[in-house]
Amino acid sequence: MSSEELETESLPFLPIIEDLAGEEAVKIIKSIMVEEKTVREIVSETGLKVNRVRKTLYKLNKHRLVTYNKNEHKQNPFFREFFWRFNPQGVKRYIRIRKKVILRNLLENKDYLLENQVFRCKKHSDNMFTIDEAYKLNFSCPLCGSPLQIAENIKLIKTIENLINRLVDTG
Ligand SMILES: [Zn+2]
Repeated sequence: MSSEELETESLPFLPIIEDLAGEEAVKIIKSIMVEEKTVREIVSETGLKVNRVRKTLYKLNKHRLVTYNKNEHKQNPFFREFFWRFNPQGVKRYIRIRKKVILRNLLENKDYLLENQVFRCKKHSDNMFTIDEAYKLNFSCPLCGSPLQIAENIKLIKTIENLINRLVDTG
């Protein structure tokens, strides 16, 4: 498989990686997608700073998105160094975990909406407030000052249910 094919195939994961560890993480992942590399090699290929590469690799490793081997140094067999590589299984695992968290949040939101009234501004309908929050804001939108109105919970619950179904469908 060529590096280009691999890149395209893994593209759907890249925004998730960017979300977790930033743009630099995407560059690093692309650099070690096909063959394992040392930090030095990653640095020379990506132009990123050594400490940034290390920090990002440790973060990705913590989530098992990359792994490493301790191998012989290419020039000096008396030395051993770390060779980093991308871990596709780790990506699948990470996505599963993320989905679980999102699902749990959606279910919590749905439960909340079944029992409570929420308030929002017509223009900024993504921001929703509990009655206590709305009260503290004097029932006006913190972004534009328009009056906050009672949201239609049934519609919101329907939207949440659709999101839940979509998440469950995609495994
Ligand atoms: Zn507003």
